[in-house]
Amino acid sequence: MLETITRHLYHKDIGSCSDRELYAALIALCKQKNASATRSPWPNGRKLYYISAEFLLGKLLSNQLINLGCYEQVSHELQAAGKSLSQLEELEPEPSLGNGGLGRLAACFLDSIATLGLNGDGIGLNYHLGLFRQVFEDHCQKELPNPWMEAQCWLSKTNLHFSVPFGKLTLEAEMYDIDIPGYQRPDGTARKLHLFDTPTVDPSIVTEGISFDKTDIPRNLTLFLYPDDSDHAGKLLRLYQQYFMVSCAAQLIFLELEQQGFAPETLAQHVVVQINDTHPSLIIPELMRLLHQKGISMQKAAEIVSGTCAYTNHTILAEALEKWPLADLEEVVPQLVPILQYLDSQVKEKYPDPRLAIIDQHQMVHMAHLDIHYGFSINGVAALHTEILKTSELQPFYQIYPQKFSNKTNGITFRRWLIAANPALSSFLSSHIGENWKQDPKHLETLLHYRDDAETVSRLLTIKQYNKHLLTEYLLQSQNIHLNENSIFDIQIKRLHEYKRQQMNALYLIYKYLEIKKGNYPSTPITAIFGAKAAPAYLLAKDIIHLLLCLQHLVQQDPVVSQHLKVVMVENYNVSSAEKLIPACDISEQISLASKEASGTGNMKLMLNGAVTLGTMDGANVEIAQLVGKENIYLFGAKSPEVLSLYQNGGYHAATYYQDPEIRPLVDFIISEPLMQIGKPQFLQRLHQELSQKDWFMTLLDLKAYLETKERAFADYENRQQWGRKMLINIAKAGYFSSDRTIAEYNRDIWRV
Ligand SMILES: *Cc1c(COP(=O)(O)O)cnc(C)c1O
Repeated sequence: MLETITRHLYHKDIGSCSDRELYAALIALCKQKNASATRSPWPNGRKLYYISAEFLLGKLLSNQLINLGCYEQVSHELQAAGKSLSQLEELEPEPSLGNGGLGRLAACFLDSIATLGLNGDGIGLNYHLGLFRQVFEDHCQKELPNPWMEAQCWLSKTNLHFSVPFGKLTLEAEMYDIDIPGYQRPDGTARKLHLFDTPTVDPSIVTEGISFDKTDIPRNLTLFLYPDDSDHAGKLLRLYQQYFMVSCAAQLIFLELEQQGFAPETLAQHVVVQINDTHPSLIIPELMRLLHQKGISMQKAAEIVSGTCAYTNHTILAEALEKWPLADLEEVVPQLVPILQYLDSQVKEKYPDPRLAIIDQHQMVHMAHLDIHYGFSINGVAALHTEILKTSELQPFYQIYPQKFSNKTNGITFRRWLIAANPALSSFLSSHIGENWKQDPKHLETLLHYRDDAETVSRLLTIKQYNKHLLTEYLLQSQNIHLNENSIFDIQIKRLHEYKRQQMNALYLIYKYLEIKKGNYPSTPITAIFGAKAAPAYLLAKDIIHLLLCLQHLVQQDPVVSQHLKVVMVENYNVSSAEKLIPACDISEQISLASKEASGTGNMKLMLNGAVTLGTMDGANVEIAQLVGKENIYLFGAKSPEVLSLYQNGGYHAATYYQDPEIRPLVDFIISEPLMQIGKPQFLQRLHQELSQKDWFMTLLDLKAYLETKERAFADYENRQQWGRKMLINIAKAGYFSSDRTIAEYNRDIWRV
């Protein structure tokens, strides 16, 4: 199969090709297979457009080969010629088109949409330098550009061109596509991820680190995902990006509608637009604007668009709910302002309650409010999250539109997070319980029959040990990090944010360090592994990274402590490193403040790969706990009602907890002599002050419960057979978290494509 391509491209057999040539040939092979796939007919139903500012795809080579059903064959062909697929995979740069969970969710959803054969495509932007690449220097995060586009890559340029009008300029738009093949679809249905770009963009304007002229829109528009918005020019740039994306999306939608011979009035009958968080919300007024241009009244246009758009909420952090000054919209997209004012006045006429307004009394436009009033559906992403939206954050909206609200608990694609990431576990499962789980993950529950079978449990433990070995080799080669593969791998990997409470984990490590100093050694050595990027302008998050890197150094240079404890901060956490870290994890840290993590998906990936969760009753952890039962998860900390009422009545005072004789020495260690010697005193002091005086995400509230529960988990780990049984139950119960299940629910309740 591959050799046909290499002969055609290079007139060589596989063995005579360089790795680069083979890598390019594999891309060509996949593109060819995708191109021959049939597109499903549209006339019978709706087509879905999934619009998202982020698609955190990860490397695509293995995923494409697996889904196209030629992974085994290509591996063998390469092997026979003395080449290795995993070596070729190392050549692939990871597309950095996403930031964290929200972007990874969009990528998992595309995989499931294609696999279920739904008629739908993704729409996003083609950021040339993506999210920044993280490096550590002097125990601090430094940001660098992250170029990923190469001459030979998964993008295919289309000949589609649009023009996007802004207040002060007009930009040309071009469209690139990435094929999204479904998993072993007999008809080979492939979907597309459409990525819009502008030909004038110019990476050479980036100077120091990731700085560039934020006002030069034609040259900077699609350089970076989430450019620094700590100044006004940066904020405007994000608005330019958003409008560029939705204007292209709206033009594409009407073009495709027309190509099918459907009239614009029939938009809602033939199209559904899923708005992933509020970044694409301007699609609502933009679709209306285009309908109006086609001679449809504003009122009718509002009705049509309301039947077309659906919105997914991803956050209940008040500070993360997006709002824009009307003046900024006036500057960037003046043509949308009268439409937004029209929609706002319609709302105000019907619902005078100021909490429901689209434009508030400070002339701020609330994007989520726009989505809820002028979309037909709003969903949360885990059961607890949706309940909090209904009863607290969006309660006034739930009162007027109860039928619009629903829950769609997030999921992950098992193709990437089990079949590709953990071949050892995957083939063990197939040999033990059959191949059915690949088509229907619920079949993983068959594994429960073996929960008390010592042989099965031992095999799972052996596979875990093997994956820990692979991670150890990988980190040694890629980052020169030395791990003890016989230690407990305790892993917290996710974006750095105060609500996710990496700082609480750091306080545990301080506790453990001091215990070991006193001569209280853990039975098994502990390796605490972190992976996390902090937003470039989020100082406290960077302070927490600084603390972790200082602790890493402190522990490492201590000849006694380093025998028992190791702290490892992995550089540039991304999908590729996640795929290596997750199969090797023993304990999955999911310790956000209850009510703050909408769902989490890292928790699901880790569970699926046989890690046991140490977590709070937050996001999808609640559903994990229900599935595995309380003996197979380590829960601690305040629950969501308690936390919500503490916020409501201002009942939490960090200073009170800080006075506790067990807590204070841990917090004060942040500004102790040894750490101040290693790190930057002003950063450590800023973090210390924050934790002891403000601690907005209530770290100290849960700290003692966390220490106790974590110690109990480590003690339980000593009984390896019982631990293996917990692993088994976690794997067996993870089927619910397949994104195929999530997408089937979206389609059943919202899209009906
Ligand atoms: C899954 C994933 C996330 C999301 O992790 P959470 O723990 O749910 O926040 C973030 N980044 C990457 C690279 C991921 O693969």
